[in-house]
Amino acid sequence: MSERMSKREESGPTLSESQVRELIERTVRSVVDEADTATTYRPPLVGFAAADDPAFEGLKRLVGPEHMLPVDVLPGAASVVSFFLPFGAEVVEANRVRKGRVAREWAVAYLETNDLIGAVCEGLDEELRGAGFTSASVPATGKFDRATLASDWSHKSVAVIAGLGRFGLHHMVITQAGCAGRFGSLVTDAVLKPSYRSLRELCIHMSGGTCKDCVTRCPVGALNGAGDLDNELCWSRCEAVATRLSELGRVPVCGKCVVGRCSMGPPSTEE
Ligand code: SF4
Ligand code: SF4
Repeated sequence: MSERMSKREESGPTLSESQVRELIERTVRSVVDEADTATTYRPPLVGFAAADDPAFEGLKRLVGPEHMLPVDVLPGAASVVSFFLPFGAEVVEANRVRKGRVAREWAVAYLETNDLIGAVCEGLDEELRGAGFTSASVPATGKFDRATLASDWSHKSVAVIAGLGRFGLHHMVITQAGCAGRFGSLVTDAVLKPSYRSLRELCIHMSGGTCKDCVTRCPVGALNGAGDLDNELCWSRCEAVATRLSELGRVPVCGKCVVGRCSMGPPSTEE
């Protein structure tokens, strides 16, 4: 691929591939920096994938047949941008305190981050349009089938394809900034170099260690420690939280499994 965006050459001067990547990374950072939220965030992470990466086709088998391909989100898709918004330490700490009770701060973080993910995508869309590209995104909460508990666009799986991290024993994605935070993604027709996708496990258990901190932290036993997640049990727990905290809005959250040893970064050694 040439450094310059060949697709746009006929319409005059345009940005180089590396400039578009920088524009995207800068936009994500600035939207998060300027967010007027009670929730605090650590610096975001951004990754890129080619829209025709065969791993997207694989999600129809791993997540569900309804899972979309990037071209279903945006006809003419060339790349997928994935971003992770890691929660600040105080948000994580607040949800660590009581095993059975989800902190208000965590529920507020869920709501505020849904909006923030939307704002990041809007900001990216505007900047990309200014540079001559189109984009489309799927909302943070996506389209979720209550019967199968499967989503038609898994932001977490997209993050793995874009090199942001690896799934842990808790079925969440561990990134270089841990797993306590939220993922968003956007599809664009800009041709961008995919990020390096490391195959190194970031979860201690998955790399042969003895950690099961996430399993112990789950208040309802939805994680069996052998790699299985009882989706029904997990969803009922999140629904119960949504009922208890309904005055905040709709907050089907729990997150007790993501506030342990890998919450803020990949755990490197056994304790
Ligand atoms: S808490 Fe331990 S076992 Fe669970 S995902 Fe994190 S590193 Fe893996
Ligand atoms: S989100 Fe809550 S209920 Fe679901 S697996 Fe994690 S700790 Fe268990």
